[in-house]
Amino acid sequence: MKPAPFRYVRPQTREEGLEALARYGEDAKVLAGGQSLVPLMNLRLARPKVLVDINRIPALGILERRDGELVLGALVRHRQLEGDPRVWEACPILSRAAACIGYPAIRNRGTVGGSLAHADPAAELGCVLLATGAVVVLESSRGRREVRIEDLFVGPYTTCIRPDELLVEVRIPAWREGTRWGFAEFTRHEGGFALALAACVVHLDGEGKVTSARVAVGGVSPLPVRLPEAEKSLRGAGLSKEGIAQAAACALSLEDYDDVHAPAWHRRQLGRWLLLQALQQAAGGGS
Ligand SMILES: Cc1cc2nc3c(=O)[nH]c(=O)nc-3n(C[C@H](O)[C@H](O)[C@H](O)COP(=O)(O)OP(=O)(O)OC[C@H]3O[C@@H](n4cnc5c(N)ncnc54)[C@H](O)[C@@H]3O)c2cc1C
Repeated sequence: MKPAPFRYVRPQTREEGLEALARYGEDAKVLAGGQSLVPLMNLRLARPKVLVDINRIPALGILERRDGELVLGALVRHRQLEGDPRVWEACPILSRAAACIGYPAIRNRGTVGGSLAHADPAAELGCVLLATGAVVVLESSRGRREVRIEDLFVGPYTTCIRPDELLVEVRIPAWREGTRWGFAEFTRHEGGFALALAACVVHLDGEGKVTSARVAVGGVSPLPVRLPEAEKSLRGAGLSKEGIAQAAACALSLEDYDDVHAPAWHRRQLGRWLLLQALQQAAGGGS
């Protein structure tokens, strides 16, 4: 099917982009990689009156290390996350997860900002960035605000981004010594969307004790979430077999989420199993 008619604007600078969003408000939609928006428009599930194509705004394409952080512009493509040595070095879990997004053609176009703004509960980037403690920067012509990644998602396919706001960059604390990680997902076929996934970033001291832990699952509840109980049970202990099993079991108490692909009980069991795998990877030296 073809999309409903729309007006197309292509700003060349961030300021022009924000101006367009301020002018058209709820009638406008940002176009980034188009890998989620365009199919929705073709199915006429989305009918924006105006498309604001941000692909010609160079400032949104940055990828750099700055003040102990990895900074990713909204237009960084999944493919860059997968292959860029700076990402592997500063945040290897992100490269690993990006490689699981769809197919190469999707990864060549899809963007960090688009994936987060689309907020699919089972998207790899949302879940993994929860485990890293990322901060998202949102801008509008009214100003700029920084939002913790856990405050970005408010429901399935819903974020706190306002219609006149642009997600401009994501800032991720770079790896420090003693950081371990794990990532696991379940898909029904190679390259397919995950049914559920789990990610953890754990910091160990010199004696093998967990000093901090961030644990997240996606596809198990209506939005990707951290598991504070699991994190609490890991802190202060080593990554023992029993400790990992106890932490993973926290996925069983998550809020119901079911759709045509899987009932809630199945998603919770998957969450527990995937978290077990992710934590075992971390215990085995994922670093
Ligand atoms: C066949 C197929 C398989 C896929 N498999 C996976 C998968 O396994 N895992 C996965 O995570 N994703 C998957 N995707 C989705 C893909 O990752 C998309 O690239 C991503 O969800 C959206 O990114 P985008 O840059 O294409 O955004 P777009 O489609 O351009 O936009 C998506 C939404 O985000 C908004 N938006 C975009 N950028 C911004 C911004 N900077 N600020 C504010 N709002 C913005 C748009 O207005 C729109 O509402 C798949 C897609 C397809 C077609």
